[in-house]
Amino acid sequence: MKTTISKHDWLTAIDCGAKAWFQLREEPSPPTEADRFRMEQGTHIGVLAQSLFPDGILVNPSGELSVTAITQKLISDQNTNTFFEAAFKFDQLATKADILNRESDGWHVLEVKSSFSDSKSINEYILDLAYTTMVVELCGLTVATSSLVLLNRDYLYGDDPTKLFEIVDKTSEVKEIIAGFVVMREELVSALFRDDQPAHSLSSSCRSCAYFDEDCLGMGIEYTVLDIPSLHHTKLKKLSASIIVDLRYFPDEIAISDVQERAKICMLNNEIYTGLGLQEELDGITWPCYYLDFETVATVLPLYADHGCHQQILTQFSLHSRISADGKLQHCEYLANASKDCQRELTEKLIDALGNEGAIFVYSSFEKTRINAMAELYPDLAEALSSIIERLVDLLIILKEHVYHPKFKGSYSIKKVLPALVPDLSYDGLDIGDGDMAITMFAKMALGEVVDTDQVRNDLLAYCKLDTLAMVRLHDALLGYR
Ligand code: SF4
Repeated sequence: MKTTISKHDWLTAIDCGAKAWFQLREEPSPPTEADRFRMEQGTHIGVLAQSLFPDGILVNPSGELSVTAITQKLISDQNTNTFFEAAFKFDQLATKADILNRESDGWHVLEVKSSFSDSKSINEYILDLAYTTMVVELCGLTVATSSLVLLNRDYLYGDDPTKLFEIVDKTSEVKEIIAGFVVMREELVSALFRDDQPAHSLSSSCRSCAYFDEDCLGMGIEYTVLDIPSLHHTKLKKLSASIIVDLRYFPDEIAISDVQERAKICMLNNEIYTGLGLQEELDGITWPCYYLDFETVATVLPLYADHGCHQQILTQFSLHSRISADGKLQHCEYLANASKDCQRELTEKLIDALGNEGAIFVYSSFEKTRINAMAELYPDLAEALSSIIERLVDLLIILKEHVYHPKFKGSYSIKKVLPALVPDLSYDGLDIGDGDMAITMFAKMALGEVVDTDQVRNDLLAYCKLDTLAMVRLHDALLGYR
Protein backbone atom coordinates (compact mmCIF):
# COMPACT_ATOMS: atom_id res chain seq x y z
CA MET A 1 0.00 0.00 0.00
CA LYS A 2 1.19 3.50 -0.79
CA THR A 3 2.20 5.67 2.14
CA THR A 4 1.86 9.05 0.45
CA ILE A 5 -1.03 10.75 -1.26
CA SER A 6 -0.36 12.06 -4.75
CA LYS A 7 -2.28 14.77 -6.52
CA HIS A 8 -4.13 12.05 -8.44
CA ASP A 9 -5.13 10.30 -5.18
CA TRP A 10 -6.30 13.58 -3.64
CA LEU A 11 -8.42 14.52 -6.61
CA THR A 12 -9.90 11.02 -6.74
CA ALA A 13 -10.73 11.28 -3.03
CA ILE A 14 -12.53 14.59 -3.58
CA ASP A 15 -14.73 12.77 -6.08
CA CYS A 16 -15.09 9.49 -4.14
CA GLY A 17 -13.23 8.60 -0.95
CA ALA A 18 -13.85 4.88 -1.47
CA LYS A 19 -12.27 4.97 -4.93
CA ALA A 20 -9.13 6.71 -3.63
CA TRP A 21 -9.02 4.19 -0.75
CA PHE A 22 -8.99 1.28 -3.26
CA GLN A 23 -6.47 3.11 -5.43
CA LEU A 24 -3.96 3.52 -2.60
CA ARG A 25 -4.04 -0.21 -1.94
CA GLU A 26 -3.70 -1.38 -5.54
CA GLU A 27 -0.67 -1.89 -7.73
CA PRO A 28 -1.20 0.46 -10.68
CA SER A 29 -1.80 -1.49 -13.89
CA PRO A 30 0.81 -0.98 -16.61
CA PRO A 31 -0.13 1.79 -19.03
CA THR A 32 -1.36 0.85 -22.49
CA GLU A 33 0.60 1.93 -25.56
CA ALA A 34 -1.94 4.75 -26.03
CA ASP A 35 -1.56 5.86 -22.38
CA ARG A 36 2.22 5.82 -22.73
CA PHE A 37 2.03 7.91 -25.89
CA ARG A 38 -0.24 10.44 -24.14
CA MET A 39 2.19 10.61 -21.19
CA GLU A 40 5.16 11.11 -23.52
CA GLN A 41 3.37 13.98 -25.25
CA GLY A 42 2.59 15.53 -21.83
CA THR A 43 6.21 15.21 -20.76
CA HIS A 44 7.40 16.79 -24.01
CA ILE A 45 5.05 19.75 -23.52
CA GLY A 46 6.32 20.10 -19.94
CA VAL A 47 9.90 20.30 -21.20
CA LEU A 48 8.96 22.85 -23.89
CA ALA A 49 7.23 24.98 -21.24
CA GLN A 50 10.50 25.16 -19.35
CA SER A 51 11.86 27.26 -22.24
CA LEU A 52 9.61 30.08 -20.95
CA PHE A 53 12.07 30.39 -18.04
CA PRO A 54 15.54 29.98 -19.60
CA ASP A 55 17.31 30.40 -16.25
CA GLY A 56 15.32 27.72 -14.46
CA ILE A 57 16.92 24.62 -13.04
CA LEU A 58 15.54 21.10 -12.97
CA VAL A 59 15.30 19.50 -9.54
CA ASN A 60 16.93 16.11 -10.01
CA PRO A 61 17.25 13.33 -7.43
CA SER A 62 20.90 12.78 -6.55
CA GLY A 63 22.92 10.99 -3.89
CA GLU A 64 21.39 10.22 -0.52
CA LEU A 65 19.10 13.22 -0.35
CA SER A 66 15.41 12.87 -1.16
CA VAL A 67 14.08 15.01 -3.96
CA THR A 68 12.09 17.06 -1.42
CA ALA A 69 15.25 17.74 0.59
CA ILE A 70 17.08 18.74 -2.60
CA THR A 71 14.20 21.11 -3.40
CA GLN A 72 14.45 22.74 0.03
CA LYS A 73 18.19 23.12 -0.36
CA LEU A 74 17.91 24.65 -3.82
CA ILE A 75 15.18 27.13 -3.00
CA SER A 76 17.10 28.40 0.00
CA ASP A 77 19.67 29.72 -2.49
CA GLN A 78 18.44 33.25 -3.17
CA ASN A 79 20.42 33.43 -6.41
CA THR A 80 18.22 30.97 -8.26
CA ASN A 81 14.65 31.93 -8.95
CA THR A 82 13.06 29.26 -11.10
CA PHE A 83 12.78 25.53 -10.47
CA PHE A 84 11.28 22.77 -12.55
CA GLU A 85 9.72 19.68 -10.93
CA ALA A 86 10.33 21.02 -7.40
CA ALA A 87 9.08 18.34 -4.99
CA PHE A 88 7.19 18.95 -1.72
CA LYS A 89 5.85 16.69 0.99
CA PHE A 90 3.78 17.64 4.01
CA ASP A 91 2.81 14.68 6.22
CA GLN A 92 1.37 12.20 3.71
CA LEU A 93 0.65 14.80 1.02
CA ALA A 94 3.16 14.90 -1.85
CA THR A 95 3.37 16.96 -5.00
CA LYS A 96 5.67 18.37 -7.66
CA ALA A 97 5.31 21.87 -9.09
CA ASP A 98 5.93 21.86 -12.86
CA ILE A 99 7.40 25.35 -12.57
CA LEU A 100 8.06 27.34 -9.41
CA ASN A 101 9.19 30.91 -9.82
CA ARG A 102 10.40 33.28 -7.10
CA GLU A 103 8.79 36.72 -7.58
CA SER A 104 8.94 39.96 -5.61
CA ASP A 105 5.68 39.30 -3.69
CA GLY A 106 6.10 35.54 -3.16
CA TRP A 107 6.25 32.31 -5.17
CA HIS A 108 4.48 31.70 -8.46
CA VAL A 109 3.26 28.10 -8.92
CA LEU A 110 2.71 27.12 -12.55
CA GLU A 111 1.07 23.89 -13.72
CA VAL A 112 1.58 22.94 -17.39
CA LYS A 113 -1.30 21.34 -19.29
CA SER A 114 -1.42 20.11 -22.88
CA SER A 115 -4.80 21.74 -23.45
CA PHE A 116 -6.38 25.00 -24.55
CA SER A 117 -7.89 27.48 -22.09
CA ASP A 118 -11.42 26.58 -23.24
CA SER A 119 -10.87 22.86 -22.57
CA LYS A 120 -13.78 21.17 -20.85
CA SER A 121 -11.30 19.85 -18.29
CA ILE A 122 -10.29 23.33 -17.14
CA ASN A 123 -11.98 22.99 -13.73
CA GLU A 124 -10.10 19.76 -13.14
CA TYR A 125 -6.84 21.54 -13.98
CA ILE A 126 -7.61 24.29 -11.46
CA LEU A 127 -8.19 21.61 -8.80
CA ASP A 128 -4.76 20.13 -9.72
CA LEU A 129 -3.18 23.55 -9.36
CA ALA A 130 -4.97 24.16 -6.05
CA TYR A 131 -3.67 20.88 -4.60
CA THR A 132 -0.08 21.69 -5.58
CA THR A 133 -0.39 25.24 -4.25
CA MET A 134 -1.84 23.94 -0.97
CA VAL A 135 1.04 21.49 -0.40
CA VAL A 136 3.65 24.12 -1.32
CA GLU A 137 2.07 26.49 1.22
CA LEU A 138 1.86 23.76 3.88
CA CYS A 139 5.63 23.37 3.38
CA GLY A 140 6.05 26.98 4.43
CA LEU A 141 6.35 28.90 1.16
CA THR A 142 4.24 31.97 0.52
CA VAL A 143 2.47 31.54 -2.80
CA ALA A 144 1.42 34.82 -4.37
CA THR A 145 0.25 33.56 -7.75
CA SER A 146 -1.04 30.27 -9.15
CA SER A 147 -1.27 29.86 -12.92
CA LEU A 148 -1.95 27.34 -15.61
CA VAL A 149 0.38 27.18 -18.58
CA LEU A 150 -1.91 26.29 -21.47
CA LEU A 151 -1.62 25.86 -25.22
CA ASN A 152 -2.16 28.75 -27.56
CA ARG A 153 -4.74 28.14 -30.32
CA ASP A 154 -2.77 30.39 -32.73
CA TYR A 155 0.35 28.22 -32.60
CA LEU A 156 1.11 26.54 -35.93
CA TYR A 157 3.51 23.80 -36.96
CA GLY A 158 7.07 25.09 -37.00
CA ASP A 159 6.42 28.20 -34.86
CA ASP A 160 8.84 29.03 -32.06
CA PRO A 161 7.99 27.01 -28.88
CA THR A 162 7.66 30.23 -26.88
CA LYS A 163 4.54 30.98 -28.96
CA LEU A 164 3.07 27.64 -27.93
CA PHE A 165 1.93 28.71 -24.49
CA GLU A 166 -0.23 31.19 -22.67
CA ILE A 167 -0.01 31.69 -18.92
CA VAL A 168 -3.44 32.05 -17.33
CA ASP A 169 -3.66 33.42 -13.78
CA LYS A 170 -5.99 31.30 -11.64
CA THR A 171 -4.99 32.68 -8.23
CA SER A 172 -8.45 33.71 -7.04
CA GLU A 173 -10.11 30.39 -7.99
CA VAL A 174 -7.23 28.48 -6.41
CA LYS A 175 -7.48 30.43 -3.13
CA GLU A 176 -11.20 29.65 -2.90
CA ILE A 177 -10.64 25.95 -3.55
CA ILE A 178 -7.80 25.73 -1.04
CA ALA A 179 -10.06 27.21 1.66
CA GLY A 180 -12.33 24.18 1.14
CA PHE A 181 -9.40 21.72 0.90
CA VAL A 182 -7.98 22.92 4.20
CA VAL A 183 -11.24 22.20 6.03
CA MET A 184 -11.42 18.64 4.75
CA ARG A 185 -7.70 17.80 4.74
CA GLU A 186 -7.22 16.03 8.05
CA GLU A 187 -10.37 13.92 7.84
CA LEU A 188 -9.76 13.03 4.18
CA VAL A 189 -6.19 11.90 4.85
CA SER A 190 -7.07 9.84 7.91
CA ALA A 191 -10.01 8.15 6.11
CA LEU A 192 -7.69 7.04 3.32
CA PHE A 193 -5.31 5.35 5.75
CA ARG A 194 -7.94 3.66 7.96
CA ASP A 195 -8.43 -0.09 7.57
CA ASP A 196 -12.15 0.16 6.91
CA GLN A 197 -13.38 1.44 3.56
CA PRO A 198 -14.92 4.92 3.48
CA ALA A 199 -18.67 5.04 2.83
CA HIS A 200 -19.75 4.30 -0.75
CA SER A 201 -22.38 6.25 -2.49
CA LEU A 202 -23.77 5.97 -5.97
CA SER A 203 -22.81 8.79 -8.36
CA SER A 204 -22.05 9.36 -12.04
CA SER A 205 -18.41 8.49 -11.28
CA CYS A 206 -19.43 4.89 -10.60
CA ARG A 207 -20.14 4.44 -14.33
CA SER A 208 -16.46 4.46 -15.24
CA CYS A 209 -15.12 3.13 -11.94
CA ALA A 210 -12.96 0.03 -12.25
CA TYR A 211 -14.02 -1.07 -8.74
CA PHE A 212 -17.79 -0.98 -9.34
CA ASP A 213 -18.41 -4.61 -10.38
CA GLU A 214 -15.79 -6.48 -8.39
CA ASP A 215 -15.24 -4.50 -5.19
CA CYS A 216 -17.94 -1.95 -4.70
CA LEU A 217 -21.60 -1.17 -5.23
CA GLY A 218 -22.18 -3.43 -8.24
CA MET A 219 -20.70 -6.51 -6.58
CA GLY A 220 -22.87 -9.60 -7.13
CA ILE A 221 -25.66 -7.66 -8.88
CA GLU A 222 -26.64 -8.77 -12.40
CA TYR A 223 -28.20 -5.48 -13.54
CA THR A 224 -27.77 -2.21 -11.69
CA VAL A 225 -29.50 1.14 -12.08
CA LEU A 226 -26.41 2.30 -14.00
CA ASP A 227 -27.41 -0.08 -16.79
CA ILE A 228 -30.34 2.20 -17.62
CA PRO A 229 -29.09 4.21 -20.62
CA SER A 230 -28.28 7.88 -19.91
CA LEU A 231 -29.91 8.03 -16.48
CA HIS A 232 -29.63 11.64 -15.29
CA HIS A 233 -27.34 12.35 -12.35
CA THR A 234 -30.20 13.93 -10.36
CA LYS A 235 -32.01 10.57 -10.55
CA LEU A 236 -28.85 8.80 -9.50
CA LYS A 237 -28.73 11.12 -6.50
CA LYS A 238 -32.27 10.13 -5.49
CA LEU A 239 -31.39 6.44 -5.88
CA SER A 240 -28.24 6.99 -3.87
CA ALA A 241 -30.23 8.60 -1.06
CA SER A 242 -32.49 5.54 -0.99
CA ILE A 243 -29.45 3.21 -1.26
CA ILE A 244 -30.85 1.55 -4.37
CA VAL A 245 -28.33 0.01 -6.75
CA ASP A 246 -30.04 -3.20 -7.88
CA LEU A 247 -32.23 -2.57 -10.94
CA ARG A 248 -34.93 -4.86 -9.51
CA TYR A 249 -35.69 -2.27 -6.84
CA PHE A 250 -35.89 0.73 -9.15
CA PRO A 251 -38.77 2.75 -7.69
CA ASP A 252 -41.82 3.62 -9.83
CA GLU A 253 -41.80 7.17 -8.42
CA ILE A 254 -38.65 8.01 -10.38
CA ALA A 255 -39.88 8.88 -13.87
CA ILE A 256 -37.82 7.58 -16.78
CA SER A 257 -38.22 7.89 -20.56
CA ASP A 258 -39.85 5.24 -22.74
CA VAL A 259 -36.44 4.16 -24.08
CA GLN A 260 -35.10 3.82 -20.51
CA GLU A 261 -38.21 1.95 -19.37
CA ARG A 262 -37.87 -0.41 -22.33
CA ALA A 263 -34.22 -1.10 -21.46
CA LYS A 264 -35.17 -1.74 -17.82
CA ILE A 265 -37.89 -4.23 -18.75
CA CYS A 266 -35.59 -6.05 -21.22
CA MET A 267 -32.93 -6.48 -18.55
CA LEU A 268 -35.33 -7.55 -15.81
CA ASN A 269 -37.09 -10.06 -18.09
CA ASN A 270 -33.91 -11.02 -19.90
CA GLU A 271 -35.56 -10.48 -23.28
CA ILE A 272 -34.68 -8.66 -26.50
CA TYR A 273 -36.81 -5.74 -27.66
CA THR A 274 -37.42 -4.96 -31.33
CA GLY A 275 -39.77 -2.08 -32.09
CA LEU A 276 -42.60 -2.22 -34.60
CA GLY A 277 -41.02 0.61 -36.60
CA LEU A 278 -37.85 -1.37 -37.35
CA GLN A 279 -39.26 -3.04 -40.45
CA GLU A 280 -40.43 0.23 -41.95
CA GLU A 281 -37.07 1.82 -41.18
CA LEU A 282 -35.14 -0.99 -42.87
CA ASP A 283 -37.52 -1.18 -45.85
CA GLY A 284 -36.94 2.52 -46.47
CA ILE A 285 -33.20 2.01 -47.00
CA THR A 286 -32.07 2.26 -50.62
CA TRP A 287 -29.76 -0.40 -52.05
CA PRO A 288 -26.90 -0.63 -52.88
CA CYS A 289 -25.74 -0.19 -49.31
CA TYR A 290 -22.35 1.14 -48.30
CA TYR A 291 -20.81 0.80 -44.83
CA LEU A 292 -18.34 3.55 -44.01
CA ASP A 293 -15.90 4.10 -41.19
CA PHE A 294 -13.20 6.75 -40.71
CA GLU A 295 -10.10 6.89 -38.56
CA THR A 296 -8.38 10.13 -37.64
CA VAL A 297 -5.27 11.26 -35.84
CA ALA A 298 -4.81 14.17 -33.42
CA THR A 299 -1.68 14.93 -31.44
CA VAL A 300 -0.88 17.68 -28.96
CA LEU A 301 1.72 19.25 -31.25
CA PRO A 302 0.81 19.64 -34.92
CA LEU A 303 2.06 16.96 -37.29
CA TYR A 304 1.98 18.84 -40.60
CA ALA A 305 2.59 22.34 -42.02
CA ASP A 306 -0.19 24.89 -41.34
CA HIS A 307 -1.76 22.66 -38.69
CA GLY A 308 -2.38 23.68 -35.06
CA CYS A 309 -2.27 21.76 -31.78
CA HIS A 310 -4.78 18.92 -31.34
CA GLN A 311 -5.89 19.29 -34.96
CA GLN A 312 -7.97 16.32 -36.02
CA ILE A 313 -6.85 14.86 -39.35
CA LEU A 314 -8.71 12.30 -41.41
CA THR A 315 -6.30 9.47 -42.17
CA GLN A 316 -8.22 6.41 -43.20
CA PHE A 317 -11.48 4.96 -44.46
CA SER A 318 -12.88 1.50 -44.90
CA LEU A 319 -15.85 0.94 -47.16
CA HIS A 320 -17.84 -2.25 -47.59
CA SER A 321 -20.68 -2.36 -50.11
CA ARG A 322 -23.24 -4.74 -51.61
CA ILE A 323 -26.09 -4.39 -54.06
CA SER A 324 -28.57 -6.39 -51.97
CA ALA A 325 -28.75 -8.23 -48.65
CA ASP A 326 -27.52 -11.42 -50.32
CA GLY A 327 -25.28 -9.64 -52.84
CA LYS A 328 -21.51 -10.15 -52.97
CA LEU A 329 -19.69 -8.06 -50.40
CA GLN A 330 -17.14 -5.66 -51.92
CA HIS A 331 -14.50 -3.76 -50.00
CA CYS A 332 -12.22 -0.80 -50.63
CA GLU A 333 -10.05 1.22 -48.30
CA TYR A 334 -7.64 4.10 -48.01
CA LEU A 335 -4.83 4.73 -45.57
CA ALA A 336 -2.82 7.95 -45.70
CA ASN A 337 0.91 8.19 -46.10
CA ALA A 338 1.76 9.25 -42.54
CA SER A 339 4.53 11.61 -43.65
CA LYS A 340 2.05 14.19 -45.03
CA ASP A 341 -1.50 15.51 -44.84
CA CYS A 342 -3.41 13.33 -47.32
CA GLN A 343 -6.93 14.54 -46.55
CA ARG A 344 -7.53 15.93 -50.05
CA GLU A 345 -6.57 12.64 -51.72
CA LEU A 346 -8.61 10.65 -49.18
CA THR A 347 -11.68 12.82 -49.79
CA GLU A 348 -11.43 12.52 -53.58
CA LYS A 349 -11.06 8.73 -53.37
CA LEU A 350 -14.02 8.54 -51.02
CA ILE A 351 -16.24 10.54 -53.38
CA ASP A 352 -15.27 8.19 -56.24
CA ALA A 353 -15.82 5.05 -54.20
CA LEU A 354 -19.28 6.05 -52.98
CA GLY A 355 -20.84 6.60 -56.44
CA ASN A 356 -24.12 8.50 -56.68
CA GLU A 357 -26.76 6.28 -55.15
CA GLY A 358 -27.51 4.01 -52.24
CA ALA A 359 -27.54 4.31 -48.48
CA ILE A 360 -24.27 4.87 -46.63
CA PHE A 361 -24.32 3.28 -43.20
CA VAL A 362 -22.25 4.84 -40.45
CA TYR A 363 -22.20 4.28 -36.69
CA SER A 364 -22.61 7.61 -34.83
CA SER A 365 -22.37 11.17 -36.11
CA PHE A 366 -18.55 11.09 -36.35
CA GLU A 367 -18.36 10.47 -40.12
CA LYS A 368 -20.89 13.24 -40.81
CA THR A 369 -18.83 15.70 -38.75
CA ARG A 370 -15.64 14.81 -40.59
CA ILE A 371 -17.31 15.02 -44.03
CA ASN A 372 -18.62 18.48 -43.11
CA ALA A 373 -15.10 19.46 -42.04
CA MET A 374 -13.74 18.29 -45.41
CA ALA A 375 -16.44 20.32 -47.23
CA GLU A 376 -15.27 23.40 -45.37
CA LEU A 377 -11.63 22.65 -46.11
CA TYR A 378 -12.18 21.92 -49.82
CA PRO A 379 -15.08 24.11 -51.04
CA ASP A 380 -14.75 22.73 -54.59
CA LEU A 381 -15.72 19.30 -53.21
CA ALA A 382 -18.53 20.63 -51.01
CA GLU A 383 -21.37 19.78 -53.42
CA ALA A 384 -20.27 16.16 -53.81
CA LEU A 385 -19.78 15.86 -50.04
CA SER A 386 -23.17 17.33 -49.32
CA SER A 387 -24.83 14.64 -51.51
CA ILE A 388 -22.92 12.03 -49.52
CA ILE A 389 -24.27 13.48 -46.27
CA GLU A 390 -27.83 13.20 -47.58
CA ARG A 391 -27.30 9.47 -48.09
CA LEU A 392 -25.96 8.73 -44.58
CA VAL A 393 -27.92 6.30 -42.41
CA ASP A 394 -26.87 6.19 -38.77
CA LEU A 395 -27.12 2.61 -37.58
CA LEU A 396 -26.67 3.79 -34.01
CA ILE A 397 -29.90 5.83 -34.20
CA ILE A 398 -31.81 2.88 -35.68
CA LEU A 399 -30.60 0.66 -32.86
CA LYS A 400 -31.41 3.23 -30.18
CA GLU A 401 -34.92 3.72 -31.52
CA HIS A 402 -35.87 0.15 -32.22
CA VAL A 403 -33.68 -2.42 -30.48
CA TYR A 404 -32.55 -3.27 -26.98
CA HIS A 405 -30.61 -6.35 -25.87
CA PRO A 406 -29.97 -6.97 -22.14
CA LYS A 407 -26.27 -7.45 -22.96
CA PHE A 408 -26.04 -3.81 -24.10
CA LYS A 409 -26.06 -3.01 -20.37
CA GLY A 410 -27.05 0.58 -20.98
CA SER A 411 -24.54 1.29 -23.76
CA TYR A 412 -24.95 1.42 -27.53
CA SER A 413 -21.23 1.51 -28.21
CA ILE A 414 -20.29 -0.91 -30.98
CA LYS A 415 -18.07 -2.76 -28.50
CA LYS A 416 -21.21 -3.60 -26.45
CA VAL A 417 -23.69 -3.99 -29.31
CA LEU A 418 -21.59 -6.28 -31.54
CA PRO A 419 -21.06 -9.16 -29.06
CA ALA A 420 -24.78 -9.05 -28.18
CA LEU A 421 -26.13 -9.11 -31.75
CA VAL A 422 -23.26 -10.72 -33.69
CA PRO A 423 -21.47 -12.93 -31.14
CA ASP A 424 -19.23 -14.66 -33.71
CA LEU A 425 -17.50 -11.41 -34.75
CA SER A 426 -15.01 -9.82 -32.40
CA TYR A 427 -12.08 -7.44 -32.17
CA ASP A 428 -10.15 -9.93 -30.02
CA GLY A 429 -6.80 -10.92 -31.44
CA LEU A 430 -6.28 -7.75 -33.49
CA ASP A 431 -2.98 -5.96 -32.76
CA ILE A 432 -4.85 -2.68 -33.16
CA GLY A 433 -8.24 -3.31 -31.58
CA ASP A 434 -9.62 0.10 -30.66
CA GLY A 435 -9.70 3.69 -31.87
CA ASP A 436 -7.29 4.90 -29.20
CA MET A 437 -4.63 2.48 -30.36
CA ALA A 438 -5.29 3.32 -34.03
CA ILE A 439 -4.71 7.03 -33.33
CA THR A 440 -1.55 6.25 -31.37
CA MET A 441 0.01 4.01 -33.99
CA PHE A 442 -0.72 6.39 -36.86
CA ALA A 443 0.76 9.28 -34.86
CA LYS A 444 3.85 7.21 -34.10
CA MET A 445 4.27 6.47 -37.81
CA ALA A 446 3.93 10.18 -38.59
CA LEU A 447 6.61 10.96 -36.00
CA GLY A 448 8.94 8.30 -37.41
CA GLU A 449 8.73 6.20 -34.24
CA VAL A 450 7.63 2.95 -35.91
CA VAL A 451 10.18 0.46 -37.23
CA ASP A 452 7.87 -1.95 -39.05
CA THR A 453 5.50 0.46 -40.78
CA ASP A 454 4.19 -2.25 -43.16
CA GLN A 455 2.98 -4.25 -40.17
CA VAL A 456 1.34 -1.21 -38.54
CA ARG A 457 -0.34 -0.22 -41.81
CA ASN A 458 -1.72 -3.76 -42.16
CA ASP A 459 -2.96 -3.66 -38.55
CA LEU A 460 -4.65 -0.30 -39.12
CA LEU A 461 -6.32 -1.54 -42.29
CA ALA A 462 -7.50 -4.73 -40.54
CA TYR A 463 -8.99 -2.75 -37.65
CA CYS A 464 -10.90 -0.27 -39.80
CA LYS A 465 -12.09 -3.08 -42.11
CA LEU A 466 -13.53 -4.93 -39.13
CA ASP A 467 -15.44 -1.79 -38.11
CA THR A 468 -17.29 -1.73 -41.42
CA LEU A 469 -17.74 -5.50 -41.54
CA ALA A 470 -19.30 -5.17 -38.09
CA MET A 471 -21.83 -2.72 -39.57
CA VAL A 472 -22.65 -5.15 -42.40
CA ARG A 473 -23.25 -7.92 -39.87
CA LEU A 474 -25.31 -5.65 -37.61
CA HIS A 475 -27.45 -4.68 -40.60
CA ASP A 476 -27.91 -8.41 -41.32
CA ALA A 477 -28.83 -9.01 -37.68
CA LEU A 478 -31.47 -6.28 -37.85
CA LEU A 479 -32.85 -7.68 -41.10
CA GLY A 480 -33.15 -11.02 -39.28
CA TYR A 481 -35.08 -9.36 -36.44
CA ARG A 482 -37.66 -7.78 -38.75
S1 SF4 B 1 -18.05 2.28 -7.57
FE1 SF4 B 1 -18.68 4.36 -7.09
S2 SF4 B 1 -18.77 4.44 -4.86
FE2 SF4 B 1 -17.56 2.63 -5.42
S3 SF4 B 1 -15.45 3.32 -5.45
FE3 SF4 B 1 -16.19 3.53 -7.51
S4 SF4 B 1 -16.93 5.64 -7.68
FE4 SF4 B 1 -16.74 5.16 -5.49
